[in-house]
Amino acid sequence: MSSQPRVYGGKRTQHFDTSAIKLPQEGFRRFAVCAGRSALRHCPYCGGTHIFRNWWSLKDRCPTCNVLYEYEDGYTVGAYAINLIVTELIAVGVTLSLLIWSGMSVLALQLTGASLAIGLPIVFYPFAVLLFICLDLAFHNPGDFSERPRV
Ligand SMILES: [Zn+2]
Repeated sequence: MSSQPRVYGGKRTQHFDTSAIKLPQEGFRRFAVCAGRSALRHCPYCGGTHIFRNWWSLKDRCPTCNVLYEYEDGYTVGAYAINLIVTELIAVGVTLSLLIWSGMSVLALQLTGASLAIGLPIVFYPFAVLLFICLDLAFHNPGDFSERPRV
């Protein structure tokens, strides 16, 4: 094993204190803790705040634990899939529910459905990114427990 920092996906890895990562060892509990932090838009690894530059842009590293979020190119493609699948299912479900149980006109239903289909992915995007990180963490241990370069 080389002592040089690894370069992975064009991003140089840095050493950091793995004690800053506060996650349970067990996969499901780790996912639950991580998902709770994600719902608050906090760092999935440590619970730190201010991890987004703006609504759509996750910082490269956590300001608290310094973990590298997107450690390889294309890492967040899974987040796009989660965002699209979850939000469009909600949009269709709400629109169908309104169609079945409300007396809304067809035009109002179309406008509602289109608004949900466009608006929900925008609102849900940061949560989808963090949820994808949680799914990844549920299957792969972070920090020094893993051969995967997260730091
Ligand atoms: Zn963190």
